[in-house]
Amino acid sequence: MDDSHAVVVGAGIGGLSAALALHRHGWRVTVLERAPEMREVGAGLSLMANAVRAVDALGLGPALRRGGHGEAPGGIRNRHGRWLSRVDASEMIRQLGTTALGVHRATLHRTLREALPASSLQTNATVRHVESGPDRAEVRYQGPDGAHTLSADLVVGADGLRSRVRAQLWPHHPGPVYAGSTTWRAAIAFPDPIPAAITWGPGAEFGMVPIGDGQLYWYGAVNAPPGGHAPDELAAVRERFGDWHDPIPALLAATPPDVVLRNDIHHLTEPLPSYVRGRVALLGDAAHPMTPNLGQGAGQAIEDAVVLGAVCAAGAEGVPAALAAYDEQRRPRSQSVARASYVAGRFGQQLHNPIAVAMRTVALRVTPGRVALRSMARYADWRPPAG
Ligand SMILES: Cc1cc2nc3c(=O)[nH]c(=O)nc-3n(C[C@H](O)[C@H](O)[C@H](O)COP(=O)(O)OP(=O)(O)OC[C@H]3O[C@@H](n4cnc5c(N)ncnc54)[C@H](O)[C@@H]3O)c2cc1C
Repeated sequence: MDDSHAVVVGAGIGGLSAALALHRHGWRVTVLERAPEMREVGAGLSLMANAVRAVDALGLGPALRRGGHGEAPGGIRNRHGRWLSRVDASEMIRQLGTTALGVHRATLHRTLREALPASSLQTNATVRHVESGPDRAEVRYQGPDGAHTLSADLVVGADGLRSRVRAQLWPHHPGPVYAGSTTWRAAIAFPDPIPAAITWGPGAEFGMVPIGDGQLYWYGAVNAPPGGHAPDELAAVRERFGDWHDPIPALLAATPPDVVLRNDIHHLTEPLPSYVRGRVALLGDAAHPMTPNLGQGAGQAIEDAVVLGAVCAAGAEGVPAALAAYDEQRRPRSQSVARASYVAGRFGQQLHNPIAVAMRTVALRVTPGRVALRSMARYADWRPPAG
């Protein structure tokens, strides 16, 4: 291939996946990340079967299976520990051909980084402006030693929820909106075997996911006004979830206060009309920030990356046509996953009214296992493009 060059804005899971997908198809990539260094941040992630297939397509499946924990989700309990709905894990694995994978975000991030040439990653580089011409695109960024401009055949805006690239491409778009919930998360040492499962209470959800190497990831989500912070976030979690069923109190007791992260949840209520303008493509949370209720945000970003790599396999020549194909393949799917995730949150974590909660309990109890399984597996059935 000729010297096709892509600049990726942002070194999150989406940006690194895009860089790797393009690199595997012969592109030279430059990833610009505004953080001063690549820090091992975050808690855990569930990669559903579709995301596991996507990391397999990037050649990272074996490393992540070694570094994470493969398991089908166990089901849903109420706050007293009574199962409302159980997933037949072996049937799910049979249908989908793989388990889901619980992994520390830092492990996924490091595995992606290590698969890229170190010279392709540039930290302390804040992108200020992106412009697409007919033959080339330009990126202006601020480095530690001043302002720079890079010219490239393709620019990928993977700069997350508050994407500057999105705002520039779609200046009239309203941007992300608060979805009504705040979430605490932590990855902790907890060697006892615990199945991945979620628990619902009125307007609240607690989830636990083993992530390998004697570690477990938990999260707690509640309905709340935006922008809240507690002086001691772990104490706030204990107040909300400390009297829920075992092993939740034990998980909270095993959590050091300084590892608890808190994030308000945002999504796009107005989906973007396109993920592409000229030679610039949006990807991951920059394109489709979604609520975490289906555990699909990072999975969709990795899918985006795999498809972007595949459509750009021919190199710089056909970029506009390749990006049109990228938009066509990715926008409908990722936007429908985002919609479904929001709806899942309204019916799940956010449902607060006692009568509605009681009706949901009845609905879950009478729903046959195979119907529940089908709805859980619905978005996990994605396959990477052949070749
Ligand atoms: C509570 C919670 C739980 C979640 N659970 C799951 C889960 O179980 N499974 C799952 O698949 N997903 C989950 N997600 C979603 C997932 O974390 C995100 O969808 C995913 O990490 C998005 O990756 P990204 O690379 O698109 O964006 P980000 O991770 O936000 O990365 C963007 C990067 O761009 C950089 N950047 C921004 N602006 C600039 C600039 N101007 N110049 C240079 N660099 C810039 C940022 O510093 C950052 O490094 C969860 C999210 C939340 C909030």
